[in-house]
Amino acid sequence: MFGRDIGIDLGTANVLVYVKGKGIVLDEPSVVALEATTQRVLAVGEEAFRMVGRTPGNIVAMRPMKDGVIANFELTESMLKHFLNKVNVKNVFSKPRILICCPTNITSVEQKAIREAAEKSGGKNVYLEEEPKVAAIGAGMDIFQPSGNMVIDIGGGTTDVAVLSMGDIVTASSIKVAGDRFDHEILTYIKKKYKLLIGERTSEAIKKEVATVFPNARETSLEIRGRDMVSGLPRTITVYSAEIQEALQEAVSYIVQASKSVLEQTPPELSADIIDRGVILTGGGALLHGIDLLLAEELKVPVLVADEPMHCVAKGTGIILENLDRMSSKRIRL
Ligand code: ADP
Ligand code: MG
Repeated sequence: MFGRDIGIDLGTANVLVYVKGKGIVLDEPSVVALEATTQRVLAVGEEAFRMVGRTPGNIVAMRPMKDGVIANFELTESMLKHFLNKVNVKNVFSKPRILICCPTNITSVEQKAIREAAEKSGGKNVYLEEEPKVAAIGAGMDIFQPSGNMVIDIGGGTTDVAVLSMGDIVTASSIKVAGDRFDHEILTYIKKKYKLLIGERTSEAIKKEVATVFPNARETSLEIRGRDMVSGLPRTITVYSAEIQEALQEAVSYIVQASKSVLEQTPPELSADIIDRGVILTGGGALLHGIDLLLAEELKVPVLVADEPMHCVAKGTGIILENLDRMSSKRIRL
């Protein structure tokens, strides 16, 4: 039997749906495929993702929230509706409460529209909550105590850094450097160095399988294929960890800088707690090889990758839903 409460991690790269009592029931890429001429939605999620970079001229596969803001609101709305229909909210749930976790820097107009979309899809009470807070809860931090907790959530479009205490954000920063930017840097590097054009999917594969951001921490290689910029023909090359580390150096330095500046603005008592407890990394970017080592070295505090970092926000919505009755609704409702 389904529970009555639903949590949604509306991420720039992936959408996860959590159902109270069941766990994560949906985990799909935030991609929509459209017919270019009519703007008709052809596919959403996994099915649309398979089309990325492989569509004929009249079909476009796009990510409506790519840069951490809602680039295309109507599409975000139809994507949300599609996923809610997929878990059959209207028919299986009787007036569920829905908790949606969306990118930090969306406007209040967009928040309102997201809430309305969820209501139209069957939600009775719809709550919105800030991502770093939910990620920290999902990573197992007890953020409701009067002590400092620091979380760095590295997603697709944005990296959110936050220090939390007593259930709220004390200092925070959000930058548009995260997984997508890493992919882009790799693509640009390969283009410059080898005069080879590769697709987004290939550069993501390089990031996962070969990349490291800590010098000499990984020594692997991967054969990749692309289109030679001079001959225009397909060509195969081998890429190595060391060169990808070089390609990502600048991008990760922005994450280090943002984290340092959040720590610098943190009251000293809370900083002391962070030294004791360490910083927790969440989001898919936490899986980037060597990012924990690099941040630990630069911030001079222990850095830990959360268990299943890509599930933290969804799990966090679950924990909040379990406790919703005990928490004041004022705190949850934005
Ligand atoms: P969002 O919350 O924005 O939807 P996610 O937390 O789902 O983002 O993370 C998606 C990002 O994580 C993508 O850029 C993806 O390439 C990246 N990612 C996933 N697995 C790995 C990995 N093993 N190494 C490096 N990056 C990864
Ligand atoms: Mg996220």
